[in-house]
Amino acid sequence: MNYPVIILKAGKEKSLLQRHLWVFSGAIHSKPDTLQEGDIVQVQSAIGQFMGIGQYYPGSIMVRMLTFEPEPIDYNFWKQKILAAHQLRKTLGLTNNSTTNTYRLIHAEGDNIPGLIIDVYANNLVLQVQLKGVLPYIQDIVQILLELYPETESIYVLYAFDERKNGYLYGQPKQDKVIIEENGNHFYVDWVSGQKTGFFIDQRENRFLVAQYCKNKTVLNAFSYNGGFSVYALRAGAKDVHSVDSSKRAIAECEENIRLNFGDTNAHKGIVADCFDYLKHIDNQYDVIILDPPAFAKHVHTVKNASIGYKQINLQAIRRIRKRGILATFSCSQVVDKDLFRKIVFSAAVDARRKIQILHQCTQPADHPINIYHPESEYLKGLILYVE
Ligand code: SAH
Repeated sequence: MNYPVIILKAGKEKSLLQRHLWVFSGAIHSKPDTLQEGDIVQVQSAIGQFMGIGQYYPGSIMVRMLTFEPEPIDYNFWKQKILAAHQLRKTLGLTNNSTTNTYRLIHAEGDNIPGLIIDVYANNLVLQVQLKGVLPYIQDIVQILLELYPETESIYVLYAFDERKNGYLYGQPKQDKVIIEENGNHFYVDWVSGQKTGFFIDQRENRFLVAQYCKNKTVLNAFSYNGGFSVYALRAGAKDVHSVDSSKRAIAECEENIRLNFGDTNAHKGIVADCFDYLKHIDNQYDVIILDPPAFAKHVHTVKNASIGYKQINLQAIRRIRKRGILATFSCSQVVDKDLFRKIVFSAAVDARRKIQILHQCTQPADHPINIYHPESEYLKGLILYVE
C-alpha cells in the first residue's frame, strides 16, 4: 500500500474524522505534482496522521474517499464493498422478490463508493461510471458481479465522462427489449439509449403511494418519462390518465408500457408538450396531479432559477387541481434541500390561496440509501398534498 500522499492543512482533517467523503481543494496543503485524474492517493493530516485513501481529481472536490482504513484498493476491496451493498438489498427484500426484479445495488456515495452506480434490471446489470478512478477496477467489478449473480445475461456500462465508450462488458440481453417488473407492473427498459440507466428506479415507493389515491380519478402525470406513475395509476383503477413529457420518444415509450400492461385502452393519453405551457392551459379537470420534473438545479449557483421553476409549476397545479385533489410534487435536485423545497411549495400555496394539508413527505427508497456522514447523498424529496 504505497500510494502518493496528499497532506491537509492544519485543522482541515475534521470532516474526514467525521467520515465525509469529499476533500475540497482549499483543505489541501500539498500534493505530488505528478498526480493524474483518478489516481489513488493516501490522505494525511498536517502532522502526518493517516486519514484514509481516496481518488484524486483536479477541481474543487480534489479527493473522493474510498476508505478510512489503511487497506489496499484491490479485488478484495471491491468485493467487500459490493457484498456489503448486496447484503443491504437482501435485508430490504429486493434480491429475491416475486413482484420486483429491479433495484439499485450501488448508490455511489450513499454506499460509500464515490463514482459508481449499479442498477439491476432482472438478469441484466447496468453500471454508471461517474469517475475515472473506477476505470482500472472495471474488470474486477465485472468478475465480482458474475460471481454474485450467476444468472446474469448482460452487463452494460455507461461512462459519464465519455459516452463513446459505453457498451456491453458481458453478454447481451436475450430479447431486443428487456421487460422488468416493479411491484407487479411491467416496463420496457432501454439502458443503451434511455435516460439515466434506462428507468427511474428511485420513484418505486412513491409510485406505489400515489397510486393509492388514483382509483376512479382523472390523473395528470406531468414529466412522465416512460410512464412509471401512469402505469401504477391505471393499475389502481384510475378513470383517465394523461402523461405529458416534452420528449416524443419518452411518450412513445410510455404508450408502449401502457400497452404492455393493459393492451389497448382508452383510459390513457400520451401528450408531447412542455409541462410549463401545458399546466398554464389546463382547466380544473384533474383530481390527481403528479409533478416529477428533472433536476432544475445541478449546481448551487442555479438554485435561484430552479426555485422559480419549481414555484411556477406548483402554483399552476395548485390553482387548477380539482377540489379535494391530490398533488404529488417532487424534486430530485440535490442542491434544493427538503426545507427549501417545502418553502417553495408553501409560497405557491400562499399565492394560490387554497387550503392545503401535507399528507406524506416522500424521499428516495432504501436501495438509494443516504450516508449519514455524507448528506449530499440525499437528493429526492416530495410532498403529497391534499388541496381542498
Ligand atoms: N416521473 C418519471 C421520471 C421523470 S424524469 C418516472 O417516474 O419515471 C423527467 C422527465 O421530464 C424527462 O422524461 C424529460 O424528458 C422531461 N422534461 C424535461 N423538461 C420538460 C419540460 N419542460 N416539459 C415536459 N417534460 C420535460
